[in-house]
Amino acid sequence: MKKTALFHNERCLWHSTPGLYVLAKPVGGWVQPPSSAGLAESPDTKRRIVSLLEVSRLRQEIDIVDAPPCTEEDLLRVHPQSYLEKFKKLSDGNGGELGPHAPFGKGGYEIAKLSAGLAKSAMESVIEKRYKNAYAISRPPGHHCLSDTPMGFCMFSNISIGVEAVLHNYPNIKKVAIIDWDVHHGNGTQEIFYHRADVLTISMHQDRCFPPGYSGENDLGEGDGLGCNTNIPILPGAGHEAYLYAMKNIVIPKIERFAPDLIVVASGLDANAVDPLARMLAYGDTFREMTKMVMATAKKCCEDRLVLVHEGGYSEAMVPFCAHAIFEALTGVESDVFDPDIESYKGWQPSEEFNDYHISHLKKIADIVL
Ligand SMILES: [Zn+2]
Repeated sequence: MKKTALFHNERCLWHSTPGLYVLAKPVGGWVQPPSSAGLAESPDTKRRIVSLLEVSRLRQEIDIVDAPPCTEEDLLRVHPQSYLEKFKKLSDGNGGELGPHAPFGKGGYEIAKLSAGLAKSAMESVIEKRYKNAYAISRPPGHHCLSDTPMGFCMFSNISIGVEAVLHNYPNIKKVAIIDWDVHHGNGTQEIFYHRADVLTISMHQDRCFPPGYSGENDLGEGDGLGCNTNIPILPGAGHEAYLYAMKNIVIPKIERFAPDLIVVASGLDANAVDPLARMLAYGDTFREMTKMVMATAKKCCEDRLVLVHEGGYSEAMVPFCAHAIFEALTGVESDVFDPDIESYKGWQPSEEFNDYHISHLKKIADIVL
């Protein structure tokens, strides 16, 4: 029986984001420098996903595989030459910063190519039926990166690079749906495909969180792409029920109508209940159920072709458990791994009254986007 693949390269965890702290403010004046543990985009959230899988019984269900970096040709389908040159030049020196909240160290260019390569190879492995589904631990992440400007920890648009490559190289892949469940808006992916009818982009995110100026449910795409961009701004404080409501009543119907040949999830896990960069209340079972829903849709629409590409998620304590629940769904195997704080997270879920409020808000969005 085919396995689930985890695309992973240690070098991606060596990407450095110097000076970018959870405080996300210039350090100095009244802002005391934080400890090194305060780095905003720590590799440890990602490393601990792999570590937890290594010690759980899921390890035997999963192949951990490496992949080559994406090529310059792959990059140029999404990013202009001028951006690649600027990035490479700084990277060959001592690193630097080319966009808001996107610093990088020496060699960051090559690491970003590896990160996009993991996403691309994960898509190829599922299209070629080598694996039943796949998850790429891409780092740096990709969904905020615009075609010519990095942003919010993201250096290349990993998913866009993979999607453009498979649309170009596989005649049976004509349409792709991208669901972004990272708690922040998938603004880069939205911008890159905004005028395209062959790529459906859906972003479910905390309303007006990051980046500023994005998130509107009225941004439906333009030209040929009209109707192929969907924003679902969820109000802060939403939990398990609101997320599953949005998936069941907006995301899944939208994808089924689009009838893609491949489904890709921008799998940020920062809607978790203790994330330092957002204010939502999702937990492991939320991600488990959302994964099951997209698996059922992939079965119905596109011969199970489903790939998840990692984006954000900043709680070292909770992200590994959310990811592990996703892997239990992907493999179809349950394990004895459990999050010791799960009862607290369940206890924090919104009251019935507040849930009704979240759902009435989502109903108004459904009226606009469906
Ligand atoms: Zn995020």
